[in-house]
Amino acid sequence: MDTKTDIKALSRAQLESALAEFGQPAFRASQIVRWLYQRGAFSFEQMSDLPVGLRSALEERFALSVPEVARRQVSADGTRKYLVRFADGVSVETVGLPAADRLTVCFSTQAGCAMGCSFCATGRGGLTRDLTPGEMLDQLTLVASDFGSRISNAVAMGQGEPFANYDALLAALRYMNAKDGVGVGARHLTVSTCGLLPGIARFATEPEQFTLAVSLHSAKQSTRDRLMPAVRKYRLRELRAALVAYAEATGRRPTLEYALVGGVNDGGDELAALVGFCSGLLCHVNLIPVNPVSGTGMTRPAAETARRFRDALMRAGVETSVRVERGADIDAACGQLRQRTKG
Ligand code: SAH
Ligand code: SF4
Repeated sequence: MDTKTDIKALSRAQLESALAEFGQPAFRASQIVRWLYQRGAFSFEQMSDLPVGLRSALEERFALSVPEVARRQVSADGTRKYLVRFADGVSVETVGLPAADRLTVCFSTQAGCAMGCSFCATGRGGLTRDLTPGEMLDQLTLVASDFGSRISNAVAMGQGEPFANYDALLAALRYMNAKDGVGVGARHLTVSTCGLLPGIARFATEPEQFTLAVSLHSAKQSTRDRLMPAVRKYRLRELRAALVAYAEATGRRPTLEYALVGGVNDGGDELAALVGFCSGLLCHVNLIPVNPVSGTGMTRPAAETARRFRDALMRAGVETSVRVERGADIDAACGQLRQRTKG
């Protein structure tokens, strides 16, 4: 196996310092970024605007891996799901969501996830490994090429907990945002976290206007502890304080995701707790009727429940939407992404 570092594992600062070691000016980094993330280059040889000597120096020092699409599924609603396999054989799932004026990519930040939320397919298999920045970017590149269209939005809502892989995530978001990268506006880049407070605090200090989404799923401590055991140590009170601080520091409105599970977090007491949590908080609530995952025993409440929650939240002055499900027929909906597909 190749033991050279993959060039796509480098942040821009790391790429620039590697080039400085070769005695190259910083603008070379931009040329390489274009080759990697705009043109999907598969060799250094192809990089025709780089001096030949630099191309062979890069070749000697770095690997340049390109993932393959091991499986592609198309939903009746146009959503496409890909099983993306990296050079070491590890695979993740990526989803492309087309709309009239948009193409959104739901990308993975880790292979698997260590958080083990009880309603989520990804959490069931545990964590395999973190993805590199390039492996996050490659997911966008392959969706853009499969649809033959530019990416307008990207959401870190595939497999993995983004803030458990913070540095690689940030490096990836910056390439996604950059003019010489994918060119997606920062506000159209959304990160969803299960609520790792150090990550939220750090994200608030980033200069870009990225969008934050936080998985809440219950504003009652005992229910949330049961649904999301890995984040027990961050109490709801502290989470709320972190969101207040985030909104103050950035002036931006975080989204709170709430997967409605029948008989678990859809009762009147849960609704009252949720209204209490959101009152006076700059936020937007996104209700997601839970998507069935076999073996979890979690079922959807009646459609009327989402309306009841939305109406009560709106009456309390909390902006609320109900997420429209996409790609459920190919298991591409929220929480249905697994590490490996059988057959
Ligand atoms: N790990 C991150 C991001 C990936 S999950 C996080 O947890 O936020 C993206 C969203 O899908 C999260 O809000 C997650 O809680 C939600 N989700 C997970 N399983 C789900 C399911 N079975 N039905 C509906 N939403 C689910
Ligand atoms: Fe991980 Fe998010 Fe799934 Fe929880 S919901 S197990 S944090 S991917």
